[in-house]
Amino acid sequence: MERALQEERATPLAEARILGVRVHRVGMDDALERIEALIRRAEPSLVITADANAVLIALEDAEFHALMETAALVTPDGFGLLWAGRRLGQPFPERVSGVDLVERLTRLSHAKGYRLYLLGAAPSVAERAAQNLLARYPNAQIVGVQHGYFTPADEPAIVAQVAAAQPDVLLVGMGMPRQEKWAWRHRQQLGASVMIGVGGSFDVYGGVVKRAPKWLQRVGGEWLWRLLQDPRKIKKVRNLPRFAWRVLRERRRQESATP
Ligand code: UDP
Repeated sequence: MERALQEERATPLAEARILGVRVHRVGMDDALERIEALIRRAEPSLVITADANAVLIALEDAEFHALMETAALVTPDGFGLLWAGRRLGQPFPERVSGVDLVERLTRLSHAKGYRLYLLGAAPSVAERAAQNLLARYPNAQIVGVQHGYFTPADEPAIVAQVAAAQPDVLLVGMGMPRQEKWAWRHRQQLGASVMIGVGGSFDVYGGVVKRAPKWLQRVGGEWLWRLLQDPRKIKKVRNLPRFAWRVLRERRRQESATP
């Protein structure tokens, strides 16, 4: 056991630098393997699912940038980030999104009994998400559910409620970067081994938004689907050209630096 733990610590994951921001070059199976290792390690660890927007946030928000460095796992999410990886000669194997992680972890919980806690989204949405996930994976251990619209005054009670449920994995869907900052700030009291920021995933499983058809996901058009369902997301889409431009500038710099 002791040796297994040492081995887990000894194998660093390959990482890319996208505009200086760290993202691991992992696929879904690698990510799940690492998350299971983190559950066994049982020290509070943060997992960030990073898309192009996460990189842009990190460039402007020092606290979030530091979390991207501290996180035990930063998965590549989104068409824009995968494109950037290819352009900068550090390709990612595939997308590892929060929505897919929630489903795969529920399946793992069904098989192995990991304890999951769902925190975030509007009142009743995470409950519905839990019910829908349990309909598919009836033996999954969803040990608690809490919406994400609470005031600072409610925080101590919510943190205590999570801790009492003793989750292995806390899935936090309160939007980036708030969800990561909140989870990390309370990591000692929360007591979960792994905290994962999953953005709007509970809205997907709770039936508030529909996932894009598979063909549209494959051609990288999920952002357009999300935008049509929630026009407030225009802010993120508007950021994409800025991201692409910075990536292309970085690529030109790389080219002129290599003889
Ligand atoms: N949300 C929340 N508390 C808040 C604000 C937002 O729980 O105070 C939820 C919101 O209901 C949604 C999720 O956080 O389910 C954010 O989804 P989005 O897709 O915008 O996440 P992002 O991609 O920005 O991480």
